[in-house]
Amino acid sequence: MSKKKNIMDKIYTSFDEMTRAYNKVRSELVKLGVLWDGSKLDAVECIYEPFNPCGIVGYMGFCEFVKDGDGNIHFPAIFNGLDWRLKWNDKNSAVDVLRHEFGHALADRYPAALKKGALFRKAFGGAYGDEPARGTDPSDWEGRCVSAYAATATQEDFAETFMFYVKHKGKIPAKFAKKPALRKKWKVMAEIVRRVAAGKR
Ligand SMILES: [Zn+2]
Repeated sequence: MSKKKNIMDKIYTSFDEMTRAYNKVRSELVKLGVLWDGSKLDAVECIYEPFNPCGIVGYMGFCEFVKDGDGNIHFPAIFNGLDWRLKWNDKNSAVDVLRHEFGHALADRYPAALKKGALFRKAFGGAYGDEPARGTDPSDWEGRCVSAYAATATQEDFAETFMFYVKHKGKIPAKFAKKPALRKKWKVMAEIVRRVAAGKR
């Protein structure tokens, strides 16, 4: 695979590329135990949007731009969230987007797994939602969140942390393990994943 060079390549995702990413992330979720035949996450589809219905901004899934989603992930062919997306590995960007969106899907379909025991609130600084963690400055995120985008809302913090959790197969990367706040979030993520996986029985 050659590295993508121009801007169009970076913001354009083909249907095939999206489908490969979707299948890859689904198999990662199977290995983590949160997706199985007939499960709630198994029902989450990924819908390709060749003509971005929200205009140039783009939207993905349940979260940022569509308040009343249909429970599926929507993937625009063109997405110009450059400042966000260009930070990611070009080749894996569609995969990372879907890992992130499946984080929202998990929260959406298993709300009890996040609420039980108030673990989520303690680690993420508030209930799952579109507000930043209580008393935090979103621009001051290093060591506290896994990315700048994660600091913008507790639901994005969860989705971004889930993205890395899936990417690293549940094993915390050394750079995160050094930070107590990130260790705490990772531990809570592992517990939430365990709770969802327990539903298989
Ligand atoms: Zn999101």
